[in-house]
Amino acid sequence: MRARPLSVHTRLTLWYAGALLAILVVMSALSYWLLARSLAHDVDRSLVTLAQVVRDAPRGDGFEDAEWWVRELLDPEHQLFQLVGPDGRLRMRSWRLRDDRLPLSAEARQVVVGGQIAFETVLLHGQRLRIIALPVFRNGRLAEVVQVGMPTAPMERTLQRWLDALFVLVPLGVGLAAAGGRVMARAALRPVDEMSQSARRIDAQALARRITIRGTGDELDRLAETLNGMLGRLENTFGQMRRFSADAAHELRTPLTALKGTLEVALRADRSGTEYRAALASALEEVDRLVRLAEDLLLLSRSTAGPDSPRARVELEALVLDVAEVGTRLAKDRGVAVRVGTLAPLAVLGDGGALRRALLNLVENGVKYTPSGGRVELSVTQVDGEAVMAVEDSGPGIEPADVARIFEPFVRLDTARSRESGGSGLGLAIARSIVVAHRGVLAVERPAGGGSRFVIRLPLAAGG
Ligand code: ADP
Repeated sequence: MRARPLSVHTRLTLWYAGALLAILVVMSALSYWLLARSLAHDVDRSLVTLAQVVRDAPRGDGFEDAEWWVRELLDPEHQLFQLVGPDGRLRMRSWRLRDDRLPLSAEARQVVVGGQIAFETVLLHGQRLRIIALPVFRNGRLAEVVQVGMPTAPMERTLQRWLDALFVLVPLGVGLAAAGGRVMARAALRPVDEMSQSARRIDAQALARRITIRGTGDELDRLAETLNGMLGRLENTFGQMRRFSADAAHELRTPLTALKGTLEVALRADRSGTEYRAALASALEEVDRLVRLAEDLLLLSRSTAGPDSPRARVELEALVLDVAEVGTRLAKDRGVAVRVGTLAPLAVLGDGGALRRALLNLVENGVKYTPSGGRVELSVTQVDGEAVMAVEDSGPGIEPADVARIFEPFVRLDTARSRESGGSGLGLAIARSIVVAHRGVLAVERPAGGGSRFVIRLPLAAGG
């Protein structure tokens, strides 16, 4: 069984608490170290002062005077001191030392003989003592050594108290910060929860719904705007798909209804052989139209999916000459002249068959919509580093208002005439999706002299 992943705000809180804990542990260790150092320093300074007091205490014959005097000055804990001769023999010691003797290690002795103050920490009857050894010189010779001891227990107690406080304060601080951080992370992430809830309510049926923008202009608002933009595009695409299916169904129904009518009429009574032949010829015409429509639909879906053949080098000069020849044959009966204008020796990368289909669709339209006596002219030129294939005719031209529309599937400007001429209304849609799949642009212009000029712009293949 897999554990449920932690929520973002819990993870944020854990990271935050972990980081804070690490920082506080480092700071606590540092503060402990600084406090220990400063306390040890204070003890050593007190010892120096005490040793000087003992050294300078008035002394009669014995140590009693000094002891009495020091006892007046110091509290009992600090009354551990003794005087040692240069030979190491004990001369006097304070009353509180009783039978004990403050030790002096060989190293400390060396330091003292050298005229320096020596410090050391020793264990006396289970009690840790910090001891100072202060040399007293008279006439340039070591006369005696004053030793004063001080228990380190008070300092250790202070350090222990600080440690106890840290053990309480650090977890408490981390706990409080984590609780606060969790509340803040929750509040900061609440809009994300709300966004995912409203996104969940959006489906194919309710694509018009949008995620609420709070108007704060922050990252979450930008995310909501991005998602809304994507929803808008999806809604658009869904709408296009719905329209396309409705239009396609309509296009299929028209020839099928005509076919059904023809067959029904033929079957209603006994007919002569000629009548049956006429009915079948008419039925065949409708079937032809259906086959063309099916082929066009297939072509459109293929070209929308992008060229699937390997992208090869396509010489545009040869392509245009080939299409012009087909156009000439189509135009022969209609009294339209197909001509070839400028032919620049250019090449593009792509699917030669598909590009031929696109150009042929434009030429077919030119021939179809240009009245008898008109002309259709093809050309290839290079403009701004791009290959431009143009098909210009002297036909009726296209109104600026229709320019955007005519590339949509099933759009015919003059329905009666177009349907009669056999067009499915898919020719320009197919041509455009082929050109777009080749990273090109298909556009229509109005030449000054009338008619229309369809232009295919394509990126040139390297080397021409
Ligand atoms: P169709 O199969 O009807 O030709 P197209 O997609 O090729 O469909 O063209 C869409 C419409 O654009 C046509 O019905 C026609 O009205 C208009 N059109 C296309 N080419 C031309 C042209 N060269 N001159 C005038 N109108 C044109």
